[in-house]
Amino acid sequence: MKDYQISRFCWLEFNMDNLRDNFLVLKKMVGPDVKIMPAIKVNAYSHGIVACGKVLEECGADYLGVGSIDEGILLRENGVNMPILIFASNLIQETANLYVQYHLIPTILSLEAARSFSEAVSEPSDVFIKIDTGRGRIGVNAEEFPDFFREVSQMPNLHVEGVYSHMAAVNWPDEGADYAVWQYSRFKAAMDAIGEDANRIPFRQLANTPGCIALPDIRMSGICPGRAMWGYSPLTRRAEHPELKAPLVSWKSRLVHVNEVTGGKFGEKYKAVKMDTPKRIGIMVGGMGDGISPKIAGGYVLLHGRKCPVASTVSLEHTILDLTDFPDAKPGDEIVILGRQGEEEITLEQRMEEWGLTVPRIWTEISAHLDRHYYRDGKLWAVAKDERFILNEN
Ligand SMILES: *Cc1c(COP(=O)(O)O)cnc(C)c1O
Repeated sequence: MKDYQISRFCWLEFNMDNLRDNFLVLKKMVGPDVKIMPAIKVNAYSHGIVACGKVLEECGADYLGVGSIDEGILLRENGVNMPILIFASNLIQETANLYVQYHLIPTILSLEAARSFSEAVSEPSDVFIKIDTGRGRIGVNAEEFPDFFREVSQMPNLHVEGVYSHMAAVNWPDEGADYAVWQYSRFKAAMDAIGEDANRIPFRQLANTPGCIALPDIRMSGICPGRAMWGYSPLTRRAEHPELKAPLVSWKSRLVHVNEVTGGKFGEKYKAVKMDTPKRIGIMVGGMGDGISPKIAGGYVLLHGRKCPVASTVSLEHTILDLTDFPDAKPGDEIVILGRQGEEEITLEQRMEEWGLTVPRIWTEISAHLDRHYYRDGKLWAVAKDERFILNEN
């Protein structure tokens, strides 16, 4: 691939057809009248915001929801032109100029912020208002929304394009959805209180991943799925649950060094190893600094299509493998930390359990500096290397 050469031998591989399919399966589920704003904050839950933004724009997403102005700018600089909402994470009083310059949509939480944005824009511009309906975190309290909405909509050049809220606890109705339904009732009361104006707000949205799947009645005119885009939902599987696929298919590395060492940290503590019993080890690129949990010690990775034990130590950049049963292993051999090799497979669920991590932490622990290789139709489509996004033009 032109303009790209692998230089750090620990990387991630994504099948972006799976991201497309996840989006399309949700689109089919909600139908043409419900808009979709995929939540791609935190570097698209670590999947790489530019690649995911581009694919979702192509799929026909209505908006993208991102966590920071920086993420919005990165998308713009890489040619993503669709509407981008910034979830509340900055002071609009101090950043309104950036919203204007990069055509980003602010989340309004206060009249002061609304005024600042109104003063900064020179033409009618979209804003979203966030309501707190029970997450108990960010937003204008649902009961205060009607007055707040009236004041904001009267400010020069402000157009309320969206109103949204975030959910706390969600489940299938027969597994306990009372809290979610209560949140929805607060949202709905806030909308009812502004009468006909509510129908003129294009994006009215409360439903996250489990919300949009388990509770069709709360979808209103929009949904905002995050985890579903990456193939995950916390709900128990039933017939009405859409089939989701993980775009993150592999986390790979290579052996860079093979040696027979005398001594080393192969137990709880360093122990003297007799000179006549050297241990055959291999060095895999990737350690704690890359997001590999120290709990992998005593576990395994895949090498030559078989389980290869991790000798009990993980450092910041490397992991030591026990090659006792791999006499043919040599520098350059490919290692799988997550994904399939030959007949063997290590799943995300398995790693979550072994490393004691939940979604989305299993994703966000993975270091941003690992190269990300993106495949579409089975072919390498693009690579993200640090903040650079490089299309494979061949
Ligand atoms: C992250 C986020 C979502 C997506 O939540 P998931 O449960 O991952 O689908 C939805 N809405 C808001 C406001 C968010 O910040």
